[in-house]
Amino acid sequence: MDYFSFKNRALHCEEVPCQDLAIQYGTPLYVYSKATLLHHLRQIQEAFAEVDPLICYSVKTNGNLSLCKLMAGKGSGFDVTSGGELHRALLAGGTGAKIVFAGVGKTDPEFRAALDAGVSLFNVESEAELYALGEVAREMGKTATVALRVNPDLPPKTHHKTDTSVKGVKFGLDLETVMDVARGVLSHKHLKIAGLHMHLGSPILSVEPYRLGVAKGLILIAQLREMGHPITVMNMGGGFGIHYRKEEAQPAKAFAQVIVPAVKQAGCRLVLEPGRFIVGNAGILLSRVIYNKESGGKNFLIQDAAMNDLIRPTLYDSFHRIWPVHPAESFPAPPEDYEAEIPGTKVVDVVGPVCESGDFLAKGRRLPPMNRGDLLATFSAGAYGMSMSSNYNSRVRAAEVLVDGDKHYLIRRRETYQDLVQAELDVLAGEK
Ligand SMILES: *Cc1c(COP(=O)(O)O)cnc(C)c1O
Repeated sequence: MDYFSFKNRALHCEEVPCQDLAIQYGTPLYVYSKATLLHHLRQIQEAFAEVDPLICYSVKTNGNLSLCKLMAGKGSGFDVTSGGELHRALLAGGTGAKIVFAGVGKTDPEFRAALDAGVSLFNVESEAELYALGEVAREMGKTATVALRVNPDLPPKTHHKTDTSVKGVKFGLDLETVMDVARGVLSHKHLKIAGLHMHLGSPILSVEPYRLGVAKGLILIAQLREMGHPITVMNMGGGFGIHYRKEEAQPAKAFAQVIVPAVKQAGCRLVLEPGRFIVGNAGILLSRVIYNKESGGKNFLIQDAAMNDLIRPTLYDSFHRIWPVHPAESFPAPPEDYEAEIPGTKVVDVVGPVCESGDFLAKGRRLPPMNRGDLLATFSAGAYGMSMSSNYNSRVRAAEVLVDGDKHYLIRRRETYQDLVQAELDVLAGEK
């Protein structure tokens, strides 16, 4: 479900023609639908309402302050993975009580900032990190509340670069060591082991990994309690998949059916860290065709969005739906089946201007013929799009626009050439 639709053969975001946005703000342009974003947040809130969860939106997915503020306004907390994301969460109106801190490499300054902000939970991923956190908490005269992140060692479930709960990845404590680590801090005066954390990977299109995960979690929680740790929090992370191709994702309710009974059985407060599910389908990337090119027996559609704007296709082999913003009469909307032959379409690689063979939005894609100046939309680009963008090839980062009904707001201006160089220091100014 989203609020992007073709009306009279023109793509709209809510009530606004995308072409208007491209003309006013330029391309490449990220366009977000407020109604879609809040719809997905609400889906999770309602699906899990029975256990009154703490929902902490994953800031790394898309950290734009306006989007984060919208979510804070609807009761969401924040999951942060760095001091920078903590800064964002606080600027967006997040309060420590609704912030959780994840990541394998938290530094002492990050611990200090997080303890100062009173974050409610540190998801700790190694024994060394646990003691480092305890030491900083002792220096500050505080107690850090901790969820031990465990790697439940489940079968592979997503791209190898985004699977975080198979053996041998850097994330979490192994099942075999988590008890020993917990025993070591039983009498620590500045650490309170209050929970268990799992983030299984992303995007996950089946409830099965969660079923397996909570089963292992229940056993560990019982063991930790027996050992003397008063466990009150079960943090199941994020990872809920979305529609990239068609309607392949599970509704939030399906995940709730697996997770809620386990949380009740454990008598715990549930924490969730959804990111992609909330913002993924709420954003598209608009771009404009620069050239058509034939080379080596292939057709290339060269347009002005590149891997520095959206790196998922080349980083994760990800699929994004792509379609003209103004399709011809015979191609009214993106096909249900992208493998199917559609008469009149052409197989193209959709590529950008960056000097890398890995710079593409799609390979071997059937698209209606497009000409120089035509607009195209890359769908489901709200998650891990702008947040993973870079200045590679000294390209300025895209602008971001939020649409609300028939209104639209620039929520991040396009960068300028001045922005590109402003952090650099001209130490050689006097030299020849
Ligand atoms: C990235 C991440 C999330 C969010 O994952 P989504 O798939 O976007 O929901 C949640 N928790 C942790 C620990 C993460 O690293």
